Amino acid sequence: MRSDFSAFARFKLPPLECGLGWHPLIRKTLSRIAAVVGDASGLEITQVRQKYARLVIDFETRGDAARFENAIAAVIADAEERSGTICEQCGKRGKEHKAALEYLVTRCAAHAPRRGKTT
Ligand SMILES: [Zn+2]
Repeated sequence: MRSDFSAFARFKLPPLECGLGWHPLIRKTLSRIAAVVGDASGLEITQVRQKYARLVIDFETRGDAARFENAIAAVIADAEERSGTICEQCGKRGKEHKAALEYLVTRCAAHAPRRGKTT
């Protein structure tokens, strides 16, 4: 499974550093951001990654897009919260699990890490 994010090329997307299960959430979030900024230019998505079992999306704005900064941040905060209920691997309903070394991941029951394993 590969997701096509070419529709969002104007945001100069970085490599997505998270599991495929979150790709639909990322797509939905980018669509919402696109709706917020409209034709405004100057938005760049600088990071998309998993951190502490949550989806993190960082961005920078210049010029026109700068005035939408708060609205964009609100959309991203909502996505971050949702990511805590979606298995990062398969997209099914999930919850936070502790993996090895206290590392946290969001997974469904089938993809939950077993003790002592890193995935
Ligand atoms: Zn799963």
